[in-house]
Amino acid sequence: MLVERIWAANDLRNFNYLIACSQTGEALIVDPLHASQCLEAARKNGFTITQVLNTHEHLDHTAGNTAVVAATGARVLAHAGAANRIGGVDQGLAHGDVIKVGRTVELETLDTPGHTRSHVCLLAHGDAPALFCGDTLFNAGAGNCHNGGDPGLLYETFVNQLANLPDGTRVYPGHDYMARNLAFTLDREPGNAEAAHALAVARAHDPTNAHITTMGEEKRVNAFLRLQNPEIVAKLREKYPEIGEKPDARTVFVKLRELRNRW
Ligand SMILES: [Zn+2]
Ligand SMILES: [Zn+2]
Repeated sequence: MLVERIWAANDLRNFNYLIACSQTGEALIVDPLHASQCLEAARKNGFTITQVLNTHEHLDHTAGNTAVVAATGARVLAHAGAANRIGGVDQGLAHGDVIKVGRTVELETLDTPGHTRSHVCLLAHGDAPALFCGDTLFNAGAGNCHNGGDPGLLYETFVNQLANLPDGTRVYPGHDYMARNLAFTLDREPGNAEAAHALAVARAHDPTNAHITTMGEEKRVNAFLRLQNPEIVAKLREKYPEIGEKPDARTVFVKLRELRNRW
């Protein structure tokens, strides 16, 4: 599996991804925003785009669909529940569906609600496992729930699906929010030395060449995957005394998300 990350260079800091078969050069584009940029990235790499996948219906993840399809004839895939809102979807996806790209790539569809009600992540197995997670999991953070989402559902997705992935799984999110999210982690957990180091790196990084994290790293620097951490819980209680001495993981997650909304 070949992965080409495309930096959209916009205010929302979107990342798009080309996932290609190393034998045939066939490629799937995840969340195309600027179609010309996606087409150029495919051309430069010698890829042929045959499929478009939208992780969810927000416009910053779908705006390039029409022009990419016009240029390539690619099929459009998206969560069955988001298909009507996106329009032009050829295949509605459900949990467990396997998407093939060329001869060598198989991507498992995960139904991952929370940021929106109908959001999919793609999981690549094999010796280089990878997660394409849209606006569900970010580097050191979690998606917001402002536009059709639900923090309780996002918690379920994190704890029941994402947290169980192998530590070596590479994480490919839909935006570069790494520096701001790490600053949030350190505000919750000032003693997290790995997060402090990662923040210094992220503040200086060129987004076209940003570090690709793994689930193992995320579990060490992402507050939304550290719900039992005593320092995080204690600092959260300063803001929300009503959560009590021993809040459950769901309460910690939902309050972290609420705090992050205005942080
Ligand atoms: Zn979104
Ligand atoms: Zn987005």
